[in-house]
Amino acid sequence: MDKNTLHNISYGLYIISSNYKDKYNGQIANAVFQVTSEPATIAISVNKKNLTHKYINKSKVFSLTILTIEAPLTFIGKFGFKSGRDIDKFKDTNYEIGKINAPIIKDYANGCIEAEVINQIDVGTHTVFIGNVVDAMLFDEKESMTYEYYHKVKGGFSPKTAPTYYKEVDKPKKEKEEKKMDKYICDVCGYIYNPEKGDPDNGVPAGTSFDDVPDDWVCPVCGAGKGSFSKE
Ligand code: FE
Repeated sequence: MDKNTLHNISYGLYIISSNYKDKYNGQIANAVFQVTSEPATIAISVNKKNLTHKYINKSKVFSLTILTIEAPLTFIGKFGFKSGRDIDKFKDTNYEIGKINAPIIKDYANGCIEAEVINQIDVGTHTVFIGNVVDAMLFDEKESMTYEYYHKVKGGFSPKTAPTYYKEVDKPKKEKEEKKMDKYICDVCGYIYNPEKGDPDNGVPAGTSFDDVPDDWVCPVCGAGKGSFSKE
């Protein structure tokens, strides 16, 4: 079996949010699809280890924020690679509370859907929650982010808790022409620093070798320091 085949399935990129009592949490998700149109029903797959899973399981409600291609890696990293147990993900996030008391995130989003859980399926590491859509709103016309765009254009990765996570360890490594232009990978989130591209959004111009990246630079996805990187 070639498990890489599973990687040819296309996905979008979303934030699933929920609430528990007066607390809110959200996480990046790609395993989302519409099940039926009448009545409007959607399904999501959420890892049981995630705090958002706990909140949905308690409150039986969730919101689905549809991200646009403008969402930067730092924003995705906040919701995708950090836990709501450690940080308040909503502190610097533009949101309001929707009809069912779940957060409606407005940053880098072209729409948001609110749903009430009508069924759920235990699938081992994950739960598939099926939700009846109780409200939906469009914010703008910007293009939705696909998982492929996130992966190929933005250089993003999946956390280990994602339904589609797989390790890219079997790919053959190309011979490097210049040793100092090696790529470095973040041990925390899998982001790859590519010296040819640099990290211009964070003041590191294209063509900067990893050695020359400033010591106070941090991973644009998860915020880990330079010391958390190893040669790819
Ligand atoms: Fe990282």
